[in-house]
Amino acid sequence: MAYDPNNVFAKILRGEIPCKKVYEDEHVLAFHDINPQAPIHVLVIPKGAYVSWDDFSATASDDEIACFVRAAGKIARDLGADKKGYRVLANTGVDGGQEVPHFHLHIFAGRPLGRMVAKA
Ligand code: AMP
Repeated sequence: MAYDPNNVFAKILRGEIPCKKVYEDEHVLAFHDINPQAPIHVLVIPKGAYVSWDDFSATASDDEIACFVRAAGKIARDLGADKKGYRVLANTGVDGGQEVPHFHLHIFAGRPLGRMVAKA
C-alpha cells in the first residue's frame, strides 16, 4: 500500500492538527490517543512515512528502528507504566484492525488489560 500523506498522523507531524505530546526526538513522536481505551493510552509514531509495522520493520533504517524501540520503552517508563505492567500493540492491515495508515504503536496501561485477543 502506498503511503497517504493526508492521513491524520501525517497531519499531526506537519503541525496541521494538534496533539497532546508526551515525547519527541529526531525520529519519533508520541502523544495521547484521542479516544483512550485505558487510563494510559499513548500512540508512538515514527516521523518517517511508513504505512504499517510491516512496512516499518522491512524498510526503515537500523537507526530509525533502534530509536523507535528505545523511545517506546522510555515513554512507558516515564509514564510509570512499567510499575504494574502495560501492553504494546501494533494493529496491522485489515485483519489487524488498523485504521490510520501511518505506523503506530499503542501503549496501554493503568488497569488490568484483559484478554490478549478478542474471541472469534
Ligand atoms: P488503529 O486502529 O491501530 O489504526 O488506531 C488508530 C488510533 O488513532 C485510534 O486509537 C484513534 O483513537 C487514534 N486517533 C485517531 N485520530 C487521532 C488524533 N487526531 N489524535 C490522537 N489519536 C487519534
